[in-house]
Amino acid sequence: MTQLALVIDLNVCVGCHACVTSCKQWNTSGSAGPLADMDAYGADPSGTFFNRVQTFEVGEFPNTQTVHFPKSCLHCEDPPCVPVCPTGASYKRAEDGIVLVDYDKCIGCKYCSWACPYGARELDEKRQVMTKCTLCVDRVTDTRLPERERKPACVLACPTNARLYGDIHDPESVVSQAIRERAGYALMPEWGTQPANHYLPRRRMEMTIHAEDLERIDNPLKIDGQQPSSAPREPGREDFAT
Ligand code: SF4
Ligand code: SF4
Ligand code: SF4
Repeated sequence: MTQLALVIDLNVCVGCHACVTSCKQWNTSGSAGPLADMDAYGADPSGTFFNRVQTFEVGEFPNTQTVHFPKSCLHCEDPPCVPVCPTGASYKRAEDGIVLVDYDKCIGCKYCSWACPYGARELDEKRQVMTKCTLCVDRVTDTRLPERERKPACVLACPTNARLYGDIHDPESVVSQAIRERAGYALMPEWGTQPANHYLPRRRMEMTIHAEDLERIDNPLKIDGQQPSSAPREPGREDFAT
């Protein structure tokens, strides 16, 4: 069986959000949209996104690194969000393994979002239907598009080629090769959901930063104060990405 998926290279993702905005644009104007935006230019904006980039810092000052972590539905091979749906709105396509929501059947009960261990589903507050990444099913299956364009919008938009797309059950596909050769891993395998999407780990970079290098030479008012000491680092959150 074909299992389409994304493979995301955390080593080259620069957190530019091109995948977020291209995803929003394509899916707002495509068959999944419009994706609601509330108070977009106000004090408390919110809205529906199929794909978000979470950015966080790991390590201990001054030896820290910034990690950009794009996250969308992982199109699990055994998705717990599907059997809990009381109306059959959540389903997994047999032909390509894409997990979708039928908006006409969804009653917005949120059972699926509680069942998803990855927080990948978002309720569209305006339409009161559950939404999530469609793997751009309306692009990747559109035979009117040239072959090279039959890829998810986020994959086409990524300026660093951090996002790969293909069939993880085909050993010759670009995604299978990347997983094999670059130690690709799935998120939280202990849940038994078998996420189809995989991540390629960041390559560890050893760099020593000396405290004196952090002192500003143009510091006439002497307001920088004492820098924190750089004690040897204990294993931390970055270890999940190696
Ligand atoms: Fe379902 Fe969540 Fe898996 Fe997507 S990531 S298929 S929403 S369980
Ligand atoms: Fe099914 Fe919609 Fe309820 Fe999710 S919110 S379980 S898709 S009816
Ligand atoms: Fe968004 Fe499509 Fe990428 Fe999914 S595959 S995150 S729907 S652009």
